[in-house]
Amino acid sequence: MAARGWDELDVLLVTGDGYVDHPSFGVAVIGRFLESQGYRVGILDVPDLEPDGAGWERLPAPRLYVGVSGGTIDSMVTNYTASRKRRRVDVYRPGGKTGRPNIATIAYTSQARHHFPGVPVIIGGLEAGPRRLAHYEYYQDKMRRSILVDSKADLLVWGMGERQSLEIAQRLERGETLSGMAMTCEVVRESELPDGARHVPGFEELESDPDLSIPLFEAVREENHPGAAPLAQRHGDRFVLQHPPLSPSTEAEVDSYYDLPFARNWHPDHDAAGGIPALETVRWSINTHRGCMADCSFCSITFHQGRTIQGRSEESVLREAAKLVEHVDFRGTITDVGGPTANMYGLGCKLLEKGEPCLDRDCLTPNVCPALRIDKESEGYRRLLGLVKRTAGVKHAFVSSGIRHDLLSGKDGKLLPLHKDLVENHVSGRMKLAPEHASENTLRVMNKPSFEVYEKYEAAYKADCKSMGRDQHLVNYFIVGHPGTTLEDAIELFEKLLARNYSPEQVQEFIPLPMTRGCVQWVTGKDPINGESVHVPRSGHERKMQKALACWRAPESRPLVEEALRTCGRTDLLGRYRHAIRQRARRRTAEPLELDTCG
Ligand code: SF4
Repeated sequence: MAARGWDELDVLLVTGDGYVDHPSFGVAVIGRFLESQGYRVGILDVPDLEPDGAGWERLPAPRLYVGVSGGTIDSMVTNYTASRKRRRVDVYRPGGKTGRPNIATIAYTSQARHHFPGVPVIIGGLEAGPRRLAHYEYYQDKMRRSILVDSKADLLVWGMGERQSLEIAQRLERGETLSGMAMTCEVVRESELPDGARHVPGFEELESDPDLSIPLFEAVREENHPGAAPLAQRHGDRFVLQHPPLSPSTEAEVDSYYDLPFARNWHPDHDAAGGIPALETVRWSINTHRGCMADCSFCSITFHQGRTIQGRSEESVLREAAKLVEHVDFRGTITDVGGPTANMYGLGCKLLEKGEPCLDRDCLTPNVCPALRIDKESEGYRRLLGLVKRTAGVKHAFVSSGIRHDLLSGKDGKLLPLHKDLVENHVSGRMKLAPEHASENTLRVMNKPSFEVYEKYEAAYKADCKSMGRDQHLVNYFIVGHPGTTLEDAIELFEKLLARNYSPEQVQEFIPLPMTRGCVQWVTGKDPINGESVHVPRSGHERKMQKALACWRAPESRPLVEEALRTCGRTDLLGRYRHAIRQRARRRTAEPLELDTCG
């Protein structure tokens, strides 16, 4: 502040992460964006919670507001594993050291109130957004009030927050109320509810009848488009009022966020601790778009970034590539040119583009919707990758974001030219795909395509790698313990893995994230869209067996794999399993050890 000649701040942003000035980190984007609009922005990162804690005392009360984020992801997910054990590393904090408070948004809001009395406190980000209404909290196994009520903040911003953050600053500057803003939530009295607000089950009702999560989910889904009805949810004698979303950001708007002058480094304060580990995976990556059309049951991205793909222009992506080349530490490899799903760049649907909801069907399941312009728009992504690769100073432009294999075939069922280009030019030895499971029952509940679609693509990928003389592999991601997965389904996955002699590197245990379809399935045992009853693997032992079946090669999995096979009467698989393990042990003694990071 002294160097800039500032004697005060307009906005102070607080985050539980260590500050990283990179467009992959939300607080950096909001801060840089407000700065570009002429506001003086300070960032307080990894704040201390002691009453006289350093950090809070270092910065003066801001003139307009304090913006609070728990961090890049939900603090409970950063602090705990799916089996509710404390994590030993927090990759978003200096040196990976843990210490973030649980539901950090609440803790930081209370500190902001204490240190800056009278200054409005606004909460947002990936912790506050999905917790904006009453929700199920997996780690405490109970319903919780809206985080806006629990934190006592003045306003909650949901979704991507650039435009709301700016409007809040402008309104406060003009002395206007923050009431009624799109894509925010506020707490109001019954008499203040607007005409046409849609009432949804309240916190106390959900607490006594968790099945009411189903109508709540339906209402959130139906009213998630610009111009929809605001949602009113009772909490005691007050209501949380959720205002409808803004229209998707335009290409020019998205460009303007990514063109900001990010240093692509952590704050120098964190050098001594060894920096912020999370930066290393994204430092040389380029984000091409926001949003995801997939609607997978376990994922909350559509409730945050939306279903409409909001992409950057080629020019903006190329400007960023040129900036990377100029960076003193850049060595020629762009590690990722992608987004939430890489090959959704440019993908559009006429219906969503008009700002209308589509509730009757899914974009990608059971089959790709004819309204998607895959053939034309996959060419746009292919062209973009080629342009980035041909940027002077770039040796490689890889794609390490997830790729939807079902979007690599055109309307005639044939593989698109994008597929060949990816294999030939943009995969650094391992293409990442997320079939998530192999059992059709589980995949249906997850809202993922059939495993047959994956197998078809796998065969084509291998054949193409062979014909091109490439030693390239597929890296698969799987989720265990998802609602709809019985032990028999887990064995189906195990059989497929055993047949391929493949033990995946990445196996995730399902965590029911607030607002998601998977969370409603977990809480109610029913699918909120089709009403189907689903098995919920709640017991820790059942989840451990499911994980062991996926991570079958790990020595500690053996007793659990054998128990699962006996429980389900599948001892016919024991011989094959033991043989594969023995062969593996023989190879391990003959060859140097290879890192097996299953789990
Ligand atoms: S019309 Fe098709 S592509 Fe568009 S939102 Fe609906 S399902 Fe998705």
